[in-house]
Amino acid sequence: MNILVINCGSSSLKFQLINSETEQCIAKGLCERIGIEGSMITYAPEGGEKEKTVTPMPDHTEAIRLVLEALTNPKTGVVKSLDEIGAVGHRMVHGGEKFAGSTILTEEVMATVEECNDLAPLHNPANIIGVNACKKLMPNTPMVGVFDTAFHQTMPEEAYMYGLPYEYYEKYKIRRYGFHGTSHSYVSKKAAEILGKNYEDLKIIVCHLGNGASISAVKNGKCVDTSMGLTPLEGLIMGTRSGDIDPAIIEFIAHKENKSIDEVMSVLNKKSGVLGLSNNLSSDFRDLEAGMNEGNEHAIRTMKTYCYRVAKYIGSYVAAMNGVDVICFTAGVGENAPVVRSMVAEYLGYLGVAIDDEANHKRGEDIAISTPDSKTTVMVIPTNEELAIARETVRLVK
Ligand code: ADP
Repeated sequence: MNILVINCGSSSLKFQLINSETEQCIAKGLCERIGIEGSMITYAPEGGEKEKTVTPMPDHTEAIRLVLEALTNPKTGVVKSLDEIGAVGHRMVHGGEKFAGSTILTEEVMATVEECNDLAPLHNPANIIGVNACKKLMPNTPMVGVFDTAFHQTMPEEAYMYGLPYEYYEKYKIRRYGFHGTSHSYVSKKAAEILGKNYEDLKIIVCHLGNGASISAVKNGKCVDTSMGLTPLEGLIMGTRSGDIDPAIIEFIAHKENKSIDEVMSVLNKKSGVLGLSNNLSSDFRDLEAGMNEGNEHAIRTMKTYCYRVAKYIGSYVAAMNGVDVICFTAGVGENAPVVRSMVAEYLGYLGVAIDDEANHKRGEDIAISTPDSKTTVMVIPTNEELAIARETVRLVK
């Protein structure tokens, strides 16, 4: 069965068509600037040429229509008709406490998703628009929602509650939810599979280090803690997000800089993280690494602070699980920046971690980067959220 995987943002939409039998991606692409002047679609059939077309996309329905047209195009398409697409899997950002797993997106379910909009006002409405646009164009095709928060719903109360008045939890469901769940689930399972060990017997820490970044602790096959919170702003220092700060800083900046709460939040989300900390050098680790090699003080400070925060979280999850068997690195930075992995590993001597330098410099494969006698195994596992969504979709529609 071919599964169309859709990841819909407010002005962009990523898609992949995946053959569920071979688990291969047959075609993929991206719609950008939806609803904005200069919108374009990028499309690439597997093994074929990437084509970019600038074309008006006033809304998401038009974007999805263009995606379906590209997939069925007689020359460059990969299917003859829409009948060859068995189901659509949608990445959904916030399922609140309502969704602890993936689900078929019926009318009733969509109404429940809408109830979670308050918790993710930027992401959820875009996800819903994407689902509705797909339903309009493919009314008879089953749609499945795979939630970023679902994998973390197994966290115990002591891990998800904040030290705030309990009534805020009761009234508004303010608590830790966590994100990137599809990736944390995929990578932790894959680690167990590669090591030939039982998932339910392992203590695993997954470091998903991308532009957005989060860490999770997975004990005996269940997530027991994760670094992102009510929103994706908490936890690690990210590309442009601050991660953990003293909450009083918000009021302090607002007074000093004469900014509203919204303006300060925008600074914390878009102008902080490694971008802000590096004095606006870059949010991209390729630039930071180059800067560090040239002795740039801003790059050096940023890399050191970033890696220290990752190591500190690993330590806290070792405490939470009373040990760790495997530490996994994944996502853009985790997969491609050996220097980040080795700088983090320098803090892990107490876990008996020893890194194999040659393995640490390999790229693009599932690999153990610790030496065979390292007490804790350290691995790099490229994440594949689209494949995980396709698998979930097949599981539900079969
Ligand atoms: P997201 O999905 O959160 O947008 P990704 O997981 O794609 O992010 O990660 C993107 C980030 O990965 C880039 O901003 C960059 O910092 C980092 N990255 C990508 N390639 C490399 C590389 N070769 N070396 C170092 N960092 C890289």
